[in-house]
Amino acid sequence: MRKFNFCAGPAALPEPVLRQAQQELLNWRGLGCSVMEVSHRSPEFTEVAEGAEQDLRDLLDIPANYKVLFLQGGATGQFSAVPWNLFGAAGSREQRVADYIHTGQWAEKAIKEARRYGQVNIVASSADRNFSYAPGPDSWQQSDNAAYFHYTPNETIGGVEFDYVPEVSCPLVADMSSNILSRPIPVEKYGMIYAGAQKNIGPSGIAVGIVRDDLLDRALPDIPRSLRWKVAADAGSMDNTPPTFAWYLSGLVFQWLKAQGGVEAMAELAEKKSSLLYGFIDGSDFYSSPVEKSSRSRMNVPFVLADDKLDKAFLQQAEEAGLLNLKGHRSVGGMRASLYNAVPLEAVEALVAFMADFEKRCG
Ligand code: PMP
Repeated sequence: MRKFNFCAGPAALPEPVLRQAQQELLNWRGLGCSVMEVSHRSPEFTEVAEGAEQDLRDLLDIPANYKVLFLQGGATGQFSAVPWNLFGAAGSREQRVADYIHTGQWAEKAIKEARRYGQVNIVASSADRNFSYAPGPDSWQQSDNAAYFHYTPNETIGGVEFDYVPEVSCPLVADMSSNILSRPIPVEKYGMIYAGAQKNIGPSGIAVGIVRDDLLDRALPDIPRSLRWKVAADAGSMDNTPPTFAWYLSGLVFQWLKAQGGVEAMAELAEKKSSLLYGFIDGSDFYSSPVEKSSRSRMNVPFVLADDKLDKAFLQQAEEAGLLNLKGHRSVGGMRASLYNAVPLEAVEALVAFMADFEKRCG
């Protein structure tokens, strides 16, 4: 009954997680009501909240001097919150500088937000080749007084992923919305990591923040309370009522990830799935990838057909074959297959078989 879902987000969730949620929905833990209908301060929900945090800490090996926050407002809320939280110790508006790498649409949105509160120095940009690569460190123009350095390790729309962690001398901030939990990361190299949940974590409505303790006291004085990481940290992410169902479901995903072998297993699977698809695309004259080989995302694979007049038929027939949500982002067109953790290898095998057959019939 369930089809293969390549949506970029909200994305596929692991089937066993959905089944467990379904089974527990009406009568959670024998309480006679659902997890959505109990106080977020109840002992039962506290256990869920703390368990989810601990599992995420275990999965990403998060050091003790980092707070794990469960936040609202999505990744957009967080790229807006970053300048508010980190410009406070940097002086007047003219003195505040932040370094940003411009790799595509999500980086650009984050840059626009930061410009409202200080100066943005574009360390490097891939605009010259239509955002088809991640610029290497040899081309960077870093400032010496940046309050922080922001980058987007995986551009969800362009399908561009960094295969290295930038080495910088100020706090490194990363929007990991679309590749968190897809491989081990050296958390200690980052000042702050954030991610919207709806790709590799859980349902939409919750975002995760991982913040080094010493960065909690750098907020601008006028920061809205709901954006301040310190407020969230001091309140155990419950300064206001959290999205309890999304938190609970994310916790189930973390347990599922652990049972699969954690982020090492996810990295192996991501490599297998993405190289199968890229290998097929590269071997065909009918399909092509617009992204430079060294920067191709393991999570989001955009591709185009030799003749875009066939796009519509491709999408329609894919859907009939049980392959959902392959349409590229509305701003770039073409196709995009998102291969997050919950997308099994069989889904990519089925996609490649469909693509080969479509090419034979229509190419
Ligand atoms: N950053 C990246 C890299 C994303 O992929 C997205 C969502 N697609 C966002 C930010 C925005 O996330 P949200 O909708 O949770 O605000």
